[in-house]
Amino acid sequence: MQPSMFNLRVPLAARDEVFLMNTLTDAQLVVSADVAGLLDQIASGGFRGSNGVASETREALDLLWENGFLVADRETEQRALNDYLTEVKSDTSELSVTVLTTLQCNFACDYCYQGDHGDYNERAEKMPLETAGRVGDWIERELDRVRPERFVLTFFGGEPLLNLPAMYLLAERLSRASEARGVRLVTNIITNGLLLTEDVVDRMLPFGLNGIKITLDGDRDTHNRMRPLRGGQGTFDRIVENIRKVAGRCPIAIGGNFDESTIDSYPALLDFLKRQDFADKLVKVNFKPIVRAEPVALKGIIPLTPVGAKESFKGTCMTSVGSGAGKACDSCGGLEEKWTLLREETKRHGFPTHDGVPKGMCHVHRQHAHTIGPDGSLYACPGFTGQLAMSTGHIDDRKESWRESALEKFNRLHPWKECGDCAFIPTCAGGCVAASYSQTGDMNTPTCHKSSFESALIALAHQAASQDAATQAA
Ligand code: SF4
Ligand code: SF4
Repeated sequence: MQPSMFNLRVPLAARDEVFLMNTLTDAQLVVSADVAGLLDQIASGGFRGSNGVASETREALDLLWENGFLVADRETEQRALNDYLTEVKSDTSELSVTVLTTLQCNFACDYCYQGDHGDYNERAEKMPLETAGRVGDWIERELDRVRPERFVLTFFGGEPLLNLPAMYLLAERLSRASEARGVRLVTNIITNGLLLTEDVVDRMLPFGLNGIKITLDGDRDTHNRMRPLRGGQGTFDRIVENIRKVAGRCPIAIGGNFDESTIDSYPALLDFLKRQDFADKLVKVNFKPIVRAEPVALKGIIPLTPVGAKESFKGTCMTSVGSGAGKACDSCGGLEEKWTLLREETKRHGFPTHDGVPKGMCHVHRQHAHTIGPDGSLYACPGFTGQLAMSTGHIDDRKESWRESALEKFNRLHPWKECGDCAFIPTCAGGCVAASYSQTGDMNTPTCHKSSFESALIALAHQAASQDAATQAA
């Protein structure tokens, strides 16, 4: 018997207790310091077996064992990790498809290569209705093949509201297809918010519309600098007015991408949002760092650092990358501490936000999660769109060796193997693969946010302790 390598602990000194979390079993406990001390005794070999121990000690050992804080040996635990990773990969309970209805965008964000720069929008693809029909055929085939309980359909781009006909066609058709198969449909839209209207929301509500995620990159001035129109005009006021109009109709989440030059403006954005009449309608407010794209060391672990504003993340809009867009996404050296403070500020303003502790492996590791580009190309996640060489297939099932070889690479992903005995492996799995690829050309180099996770764990522990105290007092 030995302590699990996936145990995390936070001492709660004021209460002489310890918060324990196991990332493989997802168990969380607040225990006395004595109980946590048992783990240390067992680890050091100072514990002489459970025979003849006091009944409280036996109960504590049972509790730790049942929740996975104690395991038989390292080999058994390694097998349990491998089984878990395989289970997540092949899980059929959910089919998740992100459809990029267009790669065109009406914003000219400096940090994004997709956008209204030069002649980009003339060249960028837009999904024709005929292709949207074939995307619908492919998704219906997947619904029949996978037979999920839940189908998560996310519209993204470019800017998805620039191609409303394709979005409406797919949403309506797939709503009918889900209903006919008894599958619960969850539809999300990730948009810059400029073209969001009540009409769009009303049209999508019967088709399972579950939420709309809109990006605000800092306070008014900062957002207008980061996310302008082609001519430099600001977009903040119009987006806020659009949010005000639709906030009562469907759940709205606010996301944001910060770097060194913008993070200090986020508290002012939170103050602003708090004063708005729609503040209590925001279901999530969550900000993430922009990651840099310049090459770093080819091996080892990348501690993510912010980009300079001109760096682009090759692949897709940072609305999604590493930012848990719908879960399309969740994944910075000097900014880790400020990121933690920003999370605390978001909570202090009363907005629901991510607690910062990773919740599970992202889409890139799941066989039944796909991103479809405007031409019908399939990708493992939104982070690779626009890079045809990284396409893993096509909706017409055409056989092309380069796509098959990309699929094979994604099937063999294992960035966590570089992570040693890190306790976060079951929930982080080595971080954002798209970021690793962008920075090193190697998808198996971990991108590490460990220090941010650790700070978030401390906040989570204190929150769990207060809830525990409140329950005991009631
Ligand atoms: S990337 Fe960092 S936090 Fe994630 S599993 Fe690897 S070492 Fe742990
Ligand atoms: S690899 Fe990165 S961009 Fe792709 S789903 Fe995972 S966190 Fe998101």
